[in-house]
Amino acid sequence: MLDREELRELARYRDEENLICSFYYPLEKGMPTEGGALIRLKNMINKTLADREDWTSAQTTSISEDLARIEGLVTEEMIMSSGGLAIFACSAGGLWKEYHLPDRVGPMLVVDHATRMRPMIEFIGRYERSCTVLVGKGRARIIVLDRAGAAERSDVVASVPGRHDQGGWAQARYQRHHDHQVMHHLKETADQTFSLLQEEGFSQLFVGGTEELVSEFVEYLHPYLRERLAGSFPMEMVSSVAEVQIQTLTAASELAEAGERDALDDLRAEVHTGNLGAAGLDDTLHAVQTGQALRLLVKEDFEAPGLRCTSCHLLCLSSPCPFCGGETQALEDIVESMVTEAFLRNCEVAFVAGENGEKLAELGGIGALLRFAG
Ligand SMILES: [Zn+2]
Repeated sequence: MLDREELRELARYRDEENLICSFYYPLEKGMPTEGGALIRLKNMINKTLADREDWTSAQTTSISEDLARIEGLVTEEMIMSSGGLAIFACSAGGLWKEYHLPDRVGPMLVVDHATRMRPMIEFIGRYERSCTVLVGKGRARIIVLDRAGAAERSDVVASVPGRHDQGGWAQARYQRHHDHQVMHHLKETADQTFSLLQEEGFSQLFVGGTEELVSEFVEYLHPYLRERLAGSFPMEMVSSVAEVQIQTLTAASELAEAGERDALDDLRAEVHTGNLGAAGLDDTLHAVQTGQALRLLVKEDFEAPGLRCTSCHLLCLSSPCPFCGGETQALEDIVESMVTEAFLRNCEVAFVAGENGEKLAELGGIGALLRFAG
């Protein structure tokens, strides 16, 4: 499971002495190991070794070890796994982290003194854990899921007697009894969902069922659950776990897309008339590095060259460093560094594609909503 804190630690990881391999690779189950996939991998590794600049012999030894281990793992995984593989390795520094991702990533292989985290940061943004509760009158199901999988956590069955058509006084009393039982059952389900939140954690809650039951159930939710409530939909109690997963992920991605659309509208308004928005590389870079950026929006494929000061490590677009006058070093893609910086500063990072991506392109491909005006 991906953990934000662990990713932050990796994003902060720097080793001035040794070099780190950041490796991303797409996998497809049953990939022919004798065919193109393995050759492509070997070419990637050979090119990295051939392109080396001024590695010391200790660095060369460490990287060669890392690459051999990476090649071994990919060759094994190619046969059995689908999705993506991300590896951060530095044998001289004792670093080896491997992540099996449900989506394809890369291919990418970079050797540097810092890790390359953009694909991981992009990934974790799409990886929110959700909980979906299906509510019925006599039964409830709780399912925890994300893009990688889904698992049923409990099957809450209450003994709610069926309705009978007896009429008269007995019917009225019976009806009250029945309603009380349903209420008790919904409350119990809400309590169980809260226990699950405390035990496992999830960031979004969805509820499936009839409109009437959903709104009654919501009444019983703990405030922590209510603030995570992201939506509801009609769903049959007999649905399979996979059906629940698909329905939930669809609802979650529609919600995310709508959220991005709103953020882009806000950004455009703030850039033109307010002062809580930054657009374009220069202004956004400033907002990220001063801690002003609350939410960073990056067009999915947006990249740009830039510079980093060798003495104060400031990211900048002109040399010498505008902050300390120090010398600068060229960066192939400054956006990668901005994304990592924003992630480390607890700024939400969204990678925007499709129609929203086109809107963002009009604003320079990158922008940020700000916490405070500069
Ligand atoms: Zn500087």
